[in-house]
Amino acid sequence: MGPLEPDIQRIGRELAAAFPSAARHPLRSVDARAMELASSDAELKAALFRFVDVAPACRSLDDLARHLTGFLEELNGTPMPLAAAMRVAETRPGRVALGAAAARGVRHMAHRFIVGESLRDAAPTMRRLWDRGIASSVDLLGEATVTPEEADRYAERCSETLRELSDVTARWPERDVLERDSSGPLPRANVSVKVSALTPLLRPDAPELGREDAGRRLRPLLGQARELGAHVHIDMESLDSREAVLGLVLEMLSDEEFSDGPSAGLVIQAYLRDSGELLDTVLDIARGGGRRSPLQIRLVKGAYWDHELVEARQHGWEAPVFESKADSDRNFEALTRRLLDAHPDVRVAVASHNLRSVAHAIAYNRAMGGADEDLEIQILRGLGDELADALAASGLRVRAYCPIGNLVGGMAYLVRRLLENTSNDSFLHAQARGADLDELLAAP
Ligand SMILES: Cc1cc2nc3c(=O)[nH]c(=O)nc-3n(C[C@H](O)[C@H](O)[C@H](O)COP(=O)(O)OP(=O)(O)OC[C@H]3O[C@@H](n4cnc5c(N)ncnc54)[C@H](O)[C@@H]3O)c2cc1C
Repeated sequence: MGPLEPDIQRIGRELAAAFPSAARHPLRSVDARAMELASSDAELKAALFRFVDVAPACRSLDDLARHLTGFLEELNGTPMPLAAAMRVAETRPGRVALGAAAARGVRHMAHRFIVGESLRDAAPTMRRLWDRGIASSVDLLGEATVTPEEADRYAERCSETLRELSDVTARWPERDVLERDSSGPLPRANVSVKVSALTPLLRPDAPELGREDAGRRLRPLLGQARELGAHVHIDMESLDSREAVLGLVLEMLSDEEFSDGPSAGLVIQAYLRDSGELLDTVLDIARGGGRRSPLQIRLVKGAYWDHELVEARQHGWEAPVFESKADSDRNFEALTRRLLDAHPDVRVAVASHNLRSVAHAIAYNRAMGGADEDLEIQILRGLGDELADALAASGLRVRAYCPIGNLVGGMAYLVRRLLENTSNDSFLHAQARGADLDELLAAP
């Protein structure tokens, strides 16, 4: 047993005891049944994965329903209610009706994950989170961008969001834990941005092209965030865009123009076998950059595991991701320690719903003499709500990633979260099936 283990176990148990009671989430059991259905049927799961790929390109509910029924049609032995639904979908009015019904069905689920259609809708929820001791980062949904006009529109939405969010959050009451660490003030307005939405030209065989095109739209956003005192976080997507994304972010943030801001950050994915080397590169640049506000690094395991594995198998390549969950978890802990050791050159955000991964980060930081204020824990809204409440109640800084957008744009996000949750290896799945704390907190 490692020397840190007793602290990890104690902190994990303290946090678990601080989880709010299940009674506060009456809809949870309905969602759990939907997730159980998806996890028990491999073919349904595969159909949903294919649906995720096309959903962002759907322009209407009609379109969405046509694709969904098309994929479900290919399932063997489609259960009765689905067969009836597909008959309805044979006519245009039928498809519209089915689309509307499907939309109603997922709407209650969507509300759990998606905070609102617009910032105005979402602001009251984000204010309530703030009042409960939880900061936020806004993510504008609408992932794949195929035309320059869509990329322009996404950049405009980011710009409007930065402006409106700065206005709204300026009226919030002070919350010391959420607005300061030992490196200085932390912006209240925080926006997460996807490079794939800033350009239609992101291609693995020509990373330069995508990087330049996205750069033209990212640069004004960074300038605006600096003026407003807001934070911009660049999400990391699948491996085929990593070179362009990382190149772009590191280039911009090393630029003289941005040496005094804005507050900014990027993401490291611990499921990648080469993530340790990547962290070396990022730390070198963070240390040499002379930025006034240290770069924030969000450590995640990675959301594109199935995609990376399938892509590698199709090409006969070695998988770039670990193939055992324990390897990803162990690497996540190793990178957590390296990041915390790199403070104050970087700000550390550990993004996970896994109580063990989170307890490990808190325990290591304290054992090394770090202050709690120098570790931020991040969760996805809808998946880590109880953990966020427990962390806030324990006086720790926690930030919820809050997607905003319409349901069609949100479908891909929703289904991806659903599938992530139904994986047998997922921590949340183990928690939902009632695994005990010994199992949940066991060293990977
Ligand atoms: C605030 C926030 C922001 C995020 N931003 C991003 C982002 O920018 N880019 C991104 O890619 N992800 C992002 N994610 C998602 C994240 O990568 C994880 O998918 C998610 O948090 C689940 O990990 P976990 O630690 O919560 O749960 P756990 O259940 O402990 O871990 C699940 C993860 O383990 C890995 N895994 C599952 N099965 C295996 C296996 N058989 N072998 C190896 N590894 C496996 C996968 O990465 C899977 O997502 C973000 C998450 C949060 C909370």
